[in-house]
Amino acid sequence: MPGTVLATLYRSSQVCEVFSLQYLHLPNEEHLGEKESSVEWVGSIATKLCKLLKIAPPAVCQSTVQLFEDDVVEVWTRSVLSPSEACGLLLGSTCGHWDVFSSWNISLPAVPKPAPQPPKPPAPGAPVSRILFLTDLHWDHDYLEGTDPDCENPLCCRQDSGLPPASRPGAGYWGEYSKCDLPLRTLESLLSGLGPAGPFDMVYWTGDIPAHNIWHQSRQDQLRALTTVTALVKKFLGPVPVYPAVGNHESTPVNGFPPPFIEGNHSSSWLYEAMAKAWESWLPPEALHTLRIGGFYALSPRPGLRLISLNMNFCSRENFWLLINSTDPAGQLQWLVGELQAAEDRGDKVHIIGHIPPGHCLKSWSWNYYRIVARYENTLAGQFFGHTHVDEFEVFYDEETLSRPLSVAFLAPSATTYIGLNPGYRVYQIDGNYPGSSHVVLDHETYILNLTQANEPGAIPHWQRLYRARETYGLPNALPAAWHDLVYRMRGDTQLFQTFWFLYHKGHPPSEPCGMPCRLTTLCAQLSARSDSPALCRHLVPDGSLPDVQSLQPRPSFC
Ligand SMILES: [Zn+2]
Ligand SMILES: [Zn+2]
Repeated sequence: MPGTVLATLYRSSQVCEVFSLQYLHLPNEEHLGEKESSVEWVGSIATKLCKLLKIAPPAVCQSTVQLFEDDVVEVWTRSVLSPSEACGLLLGSTCGHWDVFSSWNISLPAVPKPAPQPPKPPAPGAPVSRILFLTDLHWDHDYLEGTDPDCENPLCCRQDSGLPPASRPGAGYWGEYSKCDLPLRTLESLLSGLGPAGPFDMVYWTGDIPAHNIWHQSRQDQLRALTTVTALVKKFLGPVPVYPAVGNHESTPVNGFPPPFIEGNHSSSWLYEAMAKAWESWLPPEALHTLRIGGFYALSPRPGLRLISLNMNFCSRENFWLLINSTDPAGQLQWLVGELQAAEDRGDKVHIIGHIPPGHCLKSWSWNYYRIVARYENTLAGQFFGHTHVDEFEVFYDEETLSRPLSVAFLAPSATTYIGLNPGYRVYQIDGNYPGSSHVVLDHETYILNLTQANEPGAIPHWQRLYRARETYGLPNALPAAWHDLVYRMRGDTQLFQTFWFLYHKGHPPSEPCGMPCRLTTLCAQLSARSDSPALCRHLVPDGSLPDVQSLQPRPSFC
């Protein structure tokens, strides 16, 4: 996420040197008693660098480093990696020399893969199930109408943003097209205005509840966001079952999710325990059990369907705890394989929900996940993620030829405006719920609040449907091949791509147009469900050289 001072430090070119520098001076295991002074030392270096490189205003540098320094030193003192290894893990092969990415593989059961069986279209008149999908709510407790939307901090429109100069308007009442999150009233308006989009059979809610003021968040702040927003969701959705997933902003410091072998005060138990309590009425005991241990779970919301909620922080490039050990953290992927095999054995279908999309993950995690998806293509009926804040998708292909589309992950847009977007949410139409239903996505709809209209004096907020996927893109169905075809149609059809670009930003695209390099990069992201795989975009630049294809590798945008 752009506001993360240390994450930005990791990504800047000077960082490899910083890694080496800090390692040379960090205490080794015999001197762990010196940890306190190391914390101070690392903190002062990081603060100096943050200010020197003008990564954030000095006060933000100071607070962010204070939040991170203790956990970061804990990780470094436990880490068995050399500086170049650590840098390679975080930045990829351009930085470190040690290829951590190819170092682990989960094992698949000896059961042979059944022949691929694409789902049959449902019979005319078959029941259709509606799933409400909420993601990236990012509630800002300190949002304040009239404050500066373009302040110097990483998050604005809030008490500490100050007032804008007389030449510019202040933050709007319902939200703002800027680096701002949402006031509680906008989330309340979203939830209270769901009527026309419903009724819903269930809700998937994929995390990032707190705001982006990541330089100044206590555990208490994060828990207040969890309980306040959970209570709001319960109030408006009543008896509809809600199935949450853990986002990268739930913790503090942001992205800090130690694997379960870290115990005591550094562990995530303060967070997972609170989640288990807040979500107790939605989840069965066995789901609450694994949630408490690793922030993930599985349950059967209806006969024939298994829902798996993954904690994608264990795949994250920005989770610094993975420096200690990045091999299948918490054993989550091996557990996923067990769940999928059991579902295959029972003849059940599976939905996966999670926060960070698989194409954004650390290489080894991402490649293993891709392999699992390919193995269980007949069983896996849907994949649903968030985190990028924009409206997009990731197509999965068979591993042998990288040509046959076999699954698609839908990346739904955020509720928050961060950065420069309309508030919004998604509804999926699913084949179900009846005996033998395929549980695949039949279509989806996206709803927004047009902020320009809503912030007019005297206006009443009006949540409207922005578009329906199949109708807008002329898709024969919503199966993987249709999304694959759409990408290649958009390559040559400027008007179609402009429609996608408009909807990608929830009806509020940036003022600068998206030219050919931007278009190809965006389309490449839709083909890249596996990270560090330039081959997936090879057909986008037919005559292009490999470096051209590599330059198309997607980057995270607004999360
Ligand atoms: Zn987010
Ligand atoms: Zn996120």
